[in-house]
Amino acid sequence: MKTNGLLYLMIAGIVLGIFSGWMYGSAMLAVEWIGEMFLDALKMLVVPLIISSMIVGIAGLGDIRKVGKTGLIALAYFMTTTCIAVGIGLVMVNIIEPGIAVEMTVQHVPEKVTGKEAVGITDILKTFVSPNLVESMVKMEILPLIVFSLVFGGVLTTLGEPGKRVIDFFDTVNSAIMKIVHLLMYFAPLGVFALIASKLGAAGGGDLFLAELAKVGKYAATVISALLLHGLVVLPTILYITTRRNPFVYFKNVTAALTTAFSTASSSATLPITIECAEENNRVSRKSALFVLPLGATVNMDGTALYESVAAIFIAQMLGIHLGFGEQMIIFLTATLAAVGAAGIPEAGLVTMVMVLQSVGLPLEGIGMLLSIDWFLDRCRTTVNVWGDSIGAGVVDFLEEKWVERGGKT
Ligand code: ASP
Repeated sequence: MKTNGLLYLMIAGIVLGIFSGWMYGSAMLAVEWIGEMFLDALKMLVVPLIISSMIVGIAGLGDIRKVGKTGLIALAYFMTTTCIAVGIGLVMVNIIEPGIAVEMTVQHVPEKVTGKEAVGITDILKTFVSPNLVESMVKMEILPLIVFSLVFGGVLTTLGEPGKRVIDFFDTVNSAIMKIVHLLMYFAPLGVFALIASKLGAAGGGDLFLAELAKVGKYAATVISALLLHGLVVLPTILYITTRRNPFVYFKNVTAALTTAFSTASSSATLPITIECAEENNRVSRKSALFVLPLGATVNMDGTALYESVAAIFIAQMLGIHLGFGEQMIIFLTATLAAVGAAGIPEAGLVTMVMVLQSVGLPLEGIGMLLSIDWFLDRCRTTVNVWGDSIGAGVVDFLEEKWVERGGKT
């Protein structure tokens, strides 16, 4: 399908989805199954895609020094953009002060976060490996799959001809999965429509949504304006400065991924389409796309990091607790880590919030206040997460070509 055709259809899907969910409310639950089928079809591809992508990506990068340098470039991009995102969140929430004069009406800790009291840095580190790879596949725990595939792919490159045969096998697996993604994209506009319409319908339609929004409207406005600043100003500027690529064209080329991110609220489920857009539309080299995007979907979450910092300070403001510079710095650090630790699934950020709140002694009950609107803000931050990954693929690809391939000569 032509990029433009798909682009218009996806946008039409979103607009129609919002319109129908808004107007017809719970009646739109009738199309929920279509959305679920689309989501499941995407998820079905994620495990084989991640494993084959990481193996092919790492093998494509060649010897271990190149892998190291490319990895460092990716890491530097991830860390820089995540820190800028948290910084923007902190500045905006301190200027707008959305929590002042808002009464905290929720007294209970939401079920999602109960039992998560012990989330800390070591818990995040522990998620990098798994005692059982098959169980990780079943539970869609992506991080151990990435770590295993990276090491596995790296080792394959040292085994000579037999290793190459296995790499070729995964290369073919990857190409086949991407073909399926290509086919699935024909259903994406319908899937996006159904996901949005049924979710808005489940939330009670436009009137109920507006009522929920009114309660925490200033908070939602703070998150959204900070996300817009990061997504529409900071990230495109980084893209332009490093690669001289036109951010508007780049944006247009990833619209399918962004609309899918908005409707699924999951970076992992969107990954197949993010890779497709990067390779096919934005001409990011295959090895960079396959290396950077699975990693990015799991650890690089600018939108989530930004949201965590805004939400934590919002809760403090609501409770009338003044957080000084030191405490805000702690939030800065823990929000960054919490975003790294959040899985690319819906509302994962809400769960890793526990770590941020605990670091400065804020009560977990505060999360209850964010719940009603989180399904919506989750979609907004997931879109920024995927946008950040997509730009990361372009930036790393360019710098890798410039610095690693040509040995640093420009
Ligand atoms: N839903 C987000 C994602 O998949 C994670 C989060 O909850 O912030 O990127």
